[in-house]
Amino acid sequence: EAFAKIGEREERIGAYLTLNEAGARAEAARLDDKLARGEDLGLLFGLPIGVKDNMVTEGLRTTCASQFLSNYDPIYDGTVVSKLKQAESVMIGKLNMDEFAMGGSNENSSFHPVRNPWDLNRVPGGSSGGSAAAVAAGEAYFALGSDTGGSIRQPASYCGVVGLKPTYGLVSRYGLVAFASSLDQIGPITKNVEDAAYLLQAIAGYDPKDSTSAQVDIPNYASALTGDIAGLRIAVPKEYLEGVDPQIKASVMEALRLLESLGAVWEEVSLPHTEYAVAAYYLLASSEASSNLSRFDGVRYGVRADHAGGLLDLYHESRSQGFGPEVKRRIMLGTYALSSGYYDAYYLKAQKVRTLIKRDFDQTFEKYDVIVGPTTPTTAFQLGSQVDDPLTMYLNDILTIPVSLAGVPALSVPCGFADGLPIGLQFIGKAFDESTILRLAHAFE
Ligand code: GLN
Repeated sequence: EAFAKIGEREERIGAYLTLNEAGARAEAARLDDKLARGEDLGLLFGLPIGVKDNMVTEGLRTTCASQFLSNYDPIYDGTVVSKLKQAESVMIGKLNMDEFAMGGSNENSSFHPVRNPWDLNRVPGGSSGGSAAAVAAGEAYFALGSDTGGSIRQPASYCGVVGLKPTYGLVSRYGLVAFASSLDQIGPITKNVEDAAYLLQAIAGYDPKDSTSAQVDIPNYASALTGDIAGLRIAVPKEYLEGVDPQIKASVMEALRLLESLGAVWEEVSLPHTEYAVAAYYLLASSEASSNLSRFDGVRYGVRADHAGGLLDLYHESRSQGFGPEVKRRIMLGTYALSSGYYDAYYLKAQKVRTLIKRDFDQTFEKYDVIVGPTTPTTAFQLGSQVDDPLTMYLNDILTIPVSLAGVPALSVPCGFADGLPIGLQFIGKAFDESTILRLAHAFE
């Protein structure tokens, strides 16, 4: 079914970079036999999944949508990919994205952009734009994305699907190509909240191969979906309603009324450091990226420039040819922020701002169970309308970035339409309390 949809729609959508058709059909046949034998079935048995192309897959091309890795066939599976195999889902292919996950529209893919299935002239969001578009278009039953500053939630919101960024440390990043290591998290993009609970169940858990992996007990997420949200205390940050599209604000207010009618209570609060989040994020994420991407030197991975004169020339040429403009911009910004004489003024200052932002969340969660607000200030914008304006593009992340800096979990679910385009509602939870946001979002859905 997934391949039939791909045949019908993929030419217009562009969600995939690599298809795994032969592998998927062989796996499906193996699962059919297993079903016939009446054996125990995996949690995600037979469900077709797409994986963002920054997660390494043994023998299956993994490009990060970069020319630099256009010939890279990994020799191992990342932990999440192994877990998907254990759960017996069927890998359909690798999904398009912004190059190295840097972007918010999928237009930074160095292969081709992705189009939003709701309106082909609009972006699907990014950087997990291929993941969200594939699920929205039925080209996969569900997908994995990664979120550093909003890259699961923002495309989920633009494409009218569910996206969950788990708590930092809940899902192993072993085998995820690093962008900003203190922020990167892998999570589900699905059609509904229940599927997100099952997919999270399959991928969460401690992994000794990731030094930031948390040793916490993993609850049964699906059993949290009781429908009972009576008495849950919701905080609505006033900063999250300022400057958002009036139709989005109206839709969020409507959602709050519905939650109230289901027995939850809500109050307006302030997260006073919200306005500094985007600036701090772009310094921190770019600094970490400049360091992480130094491994792409033309020697160890991917493409090597021809005709280089010597070693330095080889680095220079390979990096000049291999990276696209946004990636170069981030490497330059990050290198500058980390350099002697500027470190204290930029990188260190941004770290301090990050602490203040985290404190805003800690204080709010002393009194409330969940924070609710819009996922994005606008709906999906026109393809090409922001590519020449990185600052405007960066500001699209204003409502998702604070969560990433605080490391807490957040879920985006569809909550209506503005001029025919989906709107996303964001449920933000306490660290490792995915169960409560899943429960609330499931009752709302
Ligand atoms: N749009 C943000 C950025 O460009 C977030 C990306 C992400 O979460 N990977 O950095």
